Amino acid sequence: MSDIGGVHIKYLLHCPRQLWLYMRGYRPEQRSDAVAYGEAVDDTTYVRRRDVDLGEAKIDWVTTGAVVHETKSSRAPSEQHEAQVRHYCLLLERRGVTVQHGVIHYPLIRRTTTVEWNGPARALAEDTEHQARTTISRPDAPPRLARQRCRGCSYIDYCWGDS
Ligand code: SF4
Repeated sequence: MSDIGGVHIKYLLHCPRQLWLYMRGYRPEQRSDAVAYGEAVDDTTYVRRRDVDLGEAKIDWVTTGAVVHETKSSRAPSEQHEAQVRHYCLLLERRGVTVQHGVIHYPLIRRTTTVEWNGPARALAEDTEHQARTTISRPDAPPRLARQRCRGCSYIDYCWGDS
């Protein structure tokens, strides 16, 4: 069974079809500007951080007391970001770490969001992971989203190129 990392959770919650395509090896040639910009923010904002590489997921950094940190270049905090951090908490916990909680950093708007880690959060993370596995194992591609929700998706040519 494939390992589920942060990118899988992100794609699932954006669009299950995106996750499904990604897992079948489809990689759009072009990187979106948003991705490049995000990497630039990562490079310049937190130069002293240390990644925590779990293999299937790369966590931005973890501080004393096992607080999971994630940096986002977005100006809009979202449930998708929180789900990604919950997934990291789950992965760390499975490795025997007593996780306190998560913190999402939004340097462009100088904000942080705390992501709780407790029983309900764990159940939510497990459910999301299960959804990802169910989506990946589907024999057929999940349906496309409504087109207006595809804006900015790097798979847009693949999904909509013929229309
Ligand atoms: S283009 Fe739309 S339907 Fe296709 S993967 Fe992206 S969000 Fe999903």
